[in-house]
Amino acid sequence: DTLKRPVQTLRVKMALLGSSGVGKSSLALRFSKRQFGSTSPTVGCAYLTQVVHLSNVTFRFEIWDTAGQEKYHSITPLYYRGAHAALLVYDISKRETFIRAQVWLKELEKQYIPGSTVIWLVGNKADLAKDRQVSAKEGQSLATDRGLFFTETSALSGDQVNELLLAVAHRVNECIG
Ligand code: GDP
Ligand code: MG
Repeated sequence: DTLKRPVQTLRVKMALLGSSGVGKSSLALRFSKRQFGSTSPTVGCAYLTQVVHLSNVTFRFEIWDTAGQEKYHSITPLYYRGAHAALLVYDISKRETFIRAQVWLKELEKQYIPGSTVIWLVGNKADLAKDRQVSAKEGQSLATDRGLFFTETSALSGDQVNELLLAVAHRVNECIG
């Protein structure tokens, strides 16, 4: 035990972006509290936290959720500036949110030096299979074209939510390591 390497703690800022109603706040709550429930449009505090351990590194995620400003398309770049990771969320049952995600991506690309931020395309509400308007193949293909990572999640069932956070930690580790 005494020979164990000291644990390093890294603070990871992760910003959630995407249209109103796609499930950003629900995902933030899942990541942080492993719950699904009523998310008030305004969380009150700037971010929620969660800790992820990878070998000898502890990642302290600061999960930044918007307070609904996305409704007015008025998110200040300050919100995602300096983020190590950005989740670009859309709703697989609403095509316009997928289109909108591509607009957010353009905004992000203005701010970021390629390779320094992990950008993850997230197709949420994967449980709504019967209402699906965007196939997983389309999501994957956009991600591949633009050099993003891709996952479909369900904040409702919790499917792929913890896996996503762990995968982001892995990629952030590669980015900064
Ligand atoms: P936000 O505006 O992006 O923060 O979205 P919210 O987290 O407030 O969610 C909007 C609505 O979608 C709420 O009614 C949620 O309960 C619902 N929702 C969020 N995630 C999921 C999901 O994975 N599946 C389903 N079926 N509904 C979800
Ligand atoms: Mg919200």
